[in-house]
Amino acid sequence: MSSMFGKPRASSERPPQSPLPECNVAILGCRGAGKSGETGTCSHGQGRASGSCQGAVRGHLPHLPLSPPAALTVKFLTKRFISEYDPNLEDTYSSEEVVDQQPVLLKVMDTADQDGPGNCERYLCWASAFLVVYSIDNRKSFEGCQRYLEVLALHAQGCQRRCPVLLLGNKLDMEQYRQVLSAEGMSLASRFGCLFHEVSACQDFSRVQHVFHEAVREVRRQ
Ligand code: GDP
Ligand code: MG
Repeated sequence: MSSMFGKPRASSERPPQSPLPECNVAILGCRGAGKSGETGTCSHGQGRASGSCQGAVRGHLPHLPLSPPAALTVKFLTKRFISEYDPNLEDTYSSEEVVDQQPVLLKVMDTADQDGPGNCERYLCWASAFLVVYSIDNRKSFEGCQRYLEVLALHAQGCQRRCPVLLLGNKLDMEQYRQVLSAEGMSLASRFGCLFHEVSACQDFSRVQHVFHEAVREVRRQ
């Protein structure tokens, strides 16, 4: 952590800056939705494309020193799409971001539930915002999102602060195999009072970045 905020200063120097405000975002959804990256299915061949790491800090990565986190997660943190990633790996990553001219330490928990929501306390207690992800080419993953949204709605009832939830339809590049209409995503989101976006972890970085920044904005609005 100390490297993130610089070295300790001598007393004659300027006082240390106050620590960055933090925003904890948990990414939820069924297996295969594209929170991470396992086998190469991206139709645009941008796997391992160029792009510089934007100062992302891994919480812990057990293999490959330069192996970044996850499909949506890694796209946001490194601008790259990584198509091979351990589906059981769950971890938290940090990135210093500037959203609307204000710096923030964005922490992203890439969850890896085996079979829908279970043992949710770890992220319910930790997150200040949630991204619930499905794959537009997989109706089952969309149905799985409803279970997550229900868990989050139930949790919100017992909470003082409202944690923003964003529903994300991923794999927009798989349009020709679409099983879930945008209108269905929109309708589910509005039923649960969430924002809704469709993205692709292997396409435009700015759309993915926009979603994460929207989460920060929503948290700031609370
Ligand atoms: P997770 O279980 O939600 O973490 O899902 P993964 O990130 O492991 O992704 C599941 C599969 O979908 C992998 O083969 C990924 O390469 C692939 N994938 C992830 N995001 C996208 C995307 O936006 N488009 C396409 N075409 N494939 C994707
Ligand atoms: Mg994963």
